[in-house]
Amino acid sequence: MAVFKPENVEDLYEIGDILGSGHFGQVRELRERASGILWAGKFMKLRRGVASRLGIERKNVEREVEIMQALQHHNIMALRDVFESRAEVVLIIELIRGGELFDFIAEKESLTETDAIKFLEQILHGVSYMHSKNIGHFDLKPENIMLSDKRAASPDIKIIDFGMAHHFNQGEEYRSMGGTPQYIAPEIINHQPLSTAADMWSIGVITYILLSGLSPFQGDTDEETLKNIVGMNYEFDERHFSQTSVMAKDFIQKLLVREQSERMTAEDCLIHPWIKPLNRSQAAKRNRSSINMKNFKKFNAKRKWKMSYNMVWACNRLTKLQLLCKTPDLGKQELVRQNCESDQEDTETKPTSLIRRRLSSSS
Ligand code: ATP
Repeated sequence: MAVFKPENVEDLYEIGDILGSGHFGQVRELRERASGILWAGKFMKLRRGVASRLGIERKNVEREVEIMQALQHHNIMALRDVFESRAEVVLIIELIRGGELFDFIAEKESLTETDAIKFLEQILHGVSYMHSKNIGHFDLKPENIMLSDKRAASPDIKIIDFGMAHHFNQGEEYRSMGGTPQYIAPEIINHQPLSTAADMWSIGVITYILLSGLSPFQGDTDEETLKNIVGMNYEFDERHFSQTSVMAKDFIQKLLVREQSERMTAEDCLIHPWIKPLNRSQAAKRNRSSINMKNFKKFNAKRKWKMSYNMVWACNRLTKLQLLCKTPDLGKQELVRQNCESDQEDTETKPTSLIRRRLSSSS
């Protein structure tokens, strides 16, 4: 079982700027006092009691930690240490300085398929390694694909956020209704037993977006998006895919497959001719094809806008709660505590987090 150290993080690390926020807390830069080395700290508020729905259950943090401890790969964010206090757990993780892959790409003027494949190949190496350990990520999306250092000549991919990941035991049936609508596989929506193939579906969606700047199943509402996924309702509209190679479309088509067993695995992907050309002519085709940069920039700007909207919304909520929680009267404080939790419930009913709220279950 994972060991959570009882020491106070602040005794060992100086806490710096906020790097990002998630469902259960913040990720902040940390400087190790003894060595001066920089790390990232994922601060997660623990759920206070069985009746509470605020914060994360300790057993879910344990699962995330055990999974991260089992994964040591160049393209997967490394976990260094774990600290626990009464109210929160702090994961000390590798600091990833390069930001999100999609932001890095959106800054470029143009990008050939060959260049895009260099990143995709690294994602596939990380995922293939993870799957070889019988671990599924179940939340692969642009926000969770980062770069070690964007100033490097060839930046390294780092896959982050193992909060939804699952370690499959032999013979076990696992179902989960979690994930982000745009990227989830049909079997998740249909509440069928899952496998690591669900990640491969998400890679198909990410590749589709990367090449065209369009999200294949995106509807006007989450419900519509989920319907489009279950109905396999997607196409390669020539207006947006005119610069895309036939091999790239073939690659995506072999991932966006309803049957899990018929979907390409990460290993299959790594030997698909689009990733590993068999001859010079195939390699040349990738070089001549490029990503639809105009659409991609638009997609990314919209994605970032949505993310910051969600962040401001959550921050306003938090400030309101903190102000309320400072009420000195003890009786009132108890009332406020109850309100804090129900207020948080409200934040959880936002459409983007709807599907994430549903509980995972093993049977
Ligand atoms: P979610 O709500 O998406 O499940 P979460 O609570 O699990 O989020 P993470 O996704 O792990 O939290 O982290 C939140 C954000 O913090 C990330 O989107 C990223 O921007 C930033 N971040 C996470 N890990 C690191 C890291 N190691 N180095 C730098 N920034 C990081």
